[in-house]
Amino acid sequence: MQGSDTVPRLSFEEGLNLFKNAPLDALGQMAMRMRFKKNPRKQITFILDSNPNYTNICNADCSFCAFYRHAGAKDAYKKTVDEVMQHMELARQAGLTTVLLQGGLVDDLKIDYYVELVKTARERYPDIHPHFFSAPEIWNCAKVSQITVEEALKELWKAGLRTIPGGGAEMLSERVRQAISPKKMQPGAWMDLHKTAHRIGFRTTATMMYGHIEEPEDILEHLEALRTAQDEIPGFTAFIPWSYKRDRTALRRAVKHWAGADAYLRIIAFSRIYLDNFDHVQASWFSEGKETGMQALSFGADDFGGIILEENVHRATNFINKTDHNGVLSMIRQAGFEPAQRSTLYEILRTYENEAFVEVPEAQKIREADRLSILKT
Ligand code: SF4
Repeated sequence: MQGSDTVPRLSFEEGLNLFKNAPLDALGQMAMRMRFKKNPRKQITFILDSNPNYTNICNADCSFCAFYRHAGAKDAYKKTVDEVMQHMELARQAGLTTVLLQGGLVDDLKIDYYVELVKTARERYPDIHPHFFSAPEIWNCAKVSQITVEEALKELWKAGLRTIPGGGAEMLSERVRQAISPKKMQPGAWMDLHKTAHRIGFRTTATMMYGHIEEPEDILEHLEALRTAQDEIPGFTAFIPWSYKRDRTALRRAVKHWAGADAYLRIIAFSRIYLDNFDHVQASWFSEGKETGMQALSFGADDFGGIILEENVHRATNFINKTDHNGVLSMIRQAGFEPAQRSTLYEILRTYENEAFVEVPEAQKIREADRLSILKT
């Protein structure tokens, strides 16, 4: 049984009671005590990154997703390895350290394509960390290639992949999964894939998408599953929640109440308390808006995500936020913390004690024009 000196580990029932009933301010204060216990500095980390996509073709039909297209749709795309490398080149020009690459579940992309993406990225861009492919993509690629998930992961490891993003978790509850994305890998399979990856040596993140049809019990189930897995086979670097974005999605008709800033702050604070074996909880200026993202830094988060030069999934729901390197520094400072640039593995790369302003590479400033021109390829 783990826990901390500040708060003993909460049981599922205690957690549910706290999550449902604790006043938000009290939850926030408790979370900040936990946060400073883990990271005593008033430091907030962030990363210089980009989130391009290799395809928008997907056969999963998740009802919360506005990004995917079926094969054959007029705006469906599937990029060659060289076309994906153009996004890596843009990241290099912008001085970024990480590219998070994702796509959909495609019927005809086999493991060779994914291995080639990793190998080529590592060879041509050794200074950029490839943070490629969420669990459902790897699961689907294994199925299409008629190999096991473990074999697929080992192939990717051999090619040079070392971290995997935590997308595709949504809500780790069978009930919710059946209702919002029944064709995708089930919650147990998502967790098994991450545990297998941890055993091989990968580090991964864990996400959660809330604010749709879930109940507090589903949120607890999700966090409990993550905490248990992290006890068994540690390897999650951070927990990253975000709220469901409704525009242009089929699920919107089923959602009665929309989650606002208070719901986000409650989840950030509560996850910091409940996930006592996670080192980092990420707040997002990008997914929740700048004000709420900054507020979350006083509710237990110790990371502010990335500058996200390029992004298409949230954009598909018409939810668009932008910033750059200086913008992130400024938000973290305004919130009362010290910014620190980190790597994908949460190593500190740079602090800014004596720097008020950093020179932003040209590519970061013209990101929209570049993004559009690359998307046309
Ligand atoms: S969320 Fe992912 S798996 Fe689901 S439809 Fe969208 S692209 Fe496909």
